[in-house]
Amino acid sequence: MNYTQSINEFERAKNSIPGGVNSPARAFRSVGGKPVFIAKAKGSRMWDIDGNEYIDYVSSWGPMIVGHADERVIHAITEAAQKGTSYGAPTVGETDMAEQIKKMKPSMDIVRMVNSGTEATMSALRLARGFTGRDKFIKFEGCYHGHADSFLIKAGSGALTLGLPDSPGVTKGTAQDTLTAKYNDLEGVAQMFERFGSEIAAVILEPVVGNMGVVIPDQEFLEGLRGLTQKYGALLIFDEVMTGFRLAKGGAQEYFGITPDITCLGKIIGGGLPVGAYGGPKHIMEKLAPAGPVYQAGTLSGNPLAMAAGLATLKIIDETAGFHTTLEEKSARLENGLRENLKQTGHKGVINRVGSMITLFFTDREQVKSFDDACTSDTEKFGKYFRSLLAQGIYMPPSQFEAAFIPACISNEEIDKTIESSLRAMKEL
Ligand SMILES: *Cc1c(COP(=O)(O)O)cnc(C)c1O
Repeated sequence: MNYTQSINEFERAKNSIPGGVNSPARAFRSVGGKPVFIAKAKGSRMWDIDGNEYIDYVSSWGPMIVGHADERVIHAITEAAQKGTSYGAPTVGETDMAEQIKKMKPSMDIVRMVNSGTEATMSALRLARGFTGRDKFIKFEGCYHGHADSFLIKAGSGALTLGLPDSPGVTKGTAQDTLTAKYNDLEGVAQMFERFGSEIAAVILEPVVGNMGVVIPDQEFLEGLRGLTQKYGALLIFDEVMTGFRLAKGGAQEYFGITPDITCLGKIIGGGLPVGAYGGPKHIMEKLAPAGPVYQAGTLSGNPLAMAAGLATLKIIDETAGFHTTLEEKSARLENGLRENLKQTGHKGVINRVGSMITLFFTDREQVKSFDDACTSDTEKFGKYFRSLLAQGIYMPPSQFEAAFIPACISNEEIDKTIESSLRAMKEL
């Protein structure tokens, strides 16, 4: 493949944008290459500015679950745009959105819309602190909750990939209220509660992790966290920005049958436009301004275009018969093919998958259940694998520590082509 235009554009971008990109995970740094610049996308496919075609497993890092440029979503956006793009006053679409969310996730009785996953988690944490009157909270190594200061302690995603778990600019004062535990280690969390119980406002986690690669929780781990938070009067926050509508209509909370106090949403909820949301029961959410004293606001929150795109996407998920069953079948087909490839080529690896989230870790370990396990992966090997796939027209997330997403509109032929390309890539390793 020829990448001339992308290489030129990357050079140009670096003169005016930090590192040439507006979000670090896009820069291909951890896979040893230069990013391709995208010209357009449709369904499961993307094209770069040199005209190369890809089957896309990044899905804009999660949002594009129904595929790119779906006609129903495009129609909703254009129709909304004709009527003006922002008013700074209430619209009916916002209530429609809140009701649609509540229908799919009954635990979110009252919902506040924001503009990104980052805003959702940082606001949820403020709310939890305001509600409990406590300062500390527990997060897990390798989980990513957006880039607000409090969460940039042992964070996943781009922060993990770049080896910057603690970012300069985050103060010691902020960091000291962030307690970090190990994922799937309930005993560690129990000990923290024994020590700091009366100071802990919340436990926040990705109920299935995507941001250190896919890591699956033990059922007892989630149940244990629910029990501990209840016992100590702390709130349980599910960061479902990634898992939200992906694992089931009701997200991970439905999939695992556990009800959190606060849920954070993002990605899919905007249908490709910038949206986030957080919500929970009335007695907690009514602490928010203007109903209550905890302040949080947003000029573009509940933006009419974003509501239209998000609502159209959620309706497709909600109203398409067997949406998640079909997605599960397609995803299982990919998983089985990749497993067969590992067997055939003799490469050591762990494949973690829940629904349409999947990661192949190149590690000798038997399983990957924590950040420590994920870190044993051979990132150089992953880089080679990634570059070979890219050259064959398969666009995987450019990092060992990210989830690949299977879009609903992908065909079995495309999945089989992906498996064949993966086999070729593994043979070259
Ligand atoms: C992407 C992500 C975020 C941050 O969302 P942004 O919209 O990028 O701010 C937070 N939490 C999780 C689990 C995510 O995957």
